[in-house]
Amino acid sequence: MDGCTNAGEFRAPPEEVRRAADGPPQWRWLCLDHVREFNAKYNFFKGMSAEEINEAQRPMAGWERETRAFSAAGTTGTPPPRWADFSDPLDAIGARFRQRMQEARGRADGRPLSGDDRRALKALGLDVDADRKALREAYTALARRYHPDQNGGDRSHEKALQEVIAAYQHLRKAPAFA
Ligand SMILES: [Zn+2]
Repeated sequence: MDGCTNAGEFRAPPEEVRRAADGPPQWRWLCLDHVREFNAKYNFFKGMSAEEINEAQRPMAGWERETRAFSAAGTTGTPPPRWADFSDPLDAIGARFRQRMQEARGRADGRPLSGDDRRALKALGLDVDADRKALREAYTALARRYHPDQNGGDRSHEKALQEVIAAYQHLRKAPAFA
């Protein structure tokens, strides 16, 4: 919510029920006070016809509608299966949730991580608990891998190399690695 500085620990549905192009509904995360306020006002069936309400109330509504068999699964060049292709959406949600929790996890040592810190860690393939030694090693390995001198002068990895350098320069000054 605009202007609210409390941690968003509670999940609320989007104001308009909609799906991303490929993925589960886009949830919002609200603090306790705001999720209470939201729940008091929320009407899931707003704007729906009687038929749509009936449809939405069925168990697993929406999931089975688009389910279709995998076509030519595993063939090179075949696009990955869409969210709607999964016949076991709850496990898919669980997997997404675990991934989300993993990504949002703080450091075991309690040092803060900003969004930029997290992006930089990801760029270097590092876990949130990485220490200075792991940072240095990941940087050295990736800088070597992408360096033109290691690739016969091929400069095609230049962008990747710049990202690795930027991520390292950012993290070495970040509080988590001070
Ligand atoms: Zn709030």
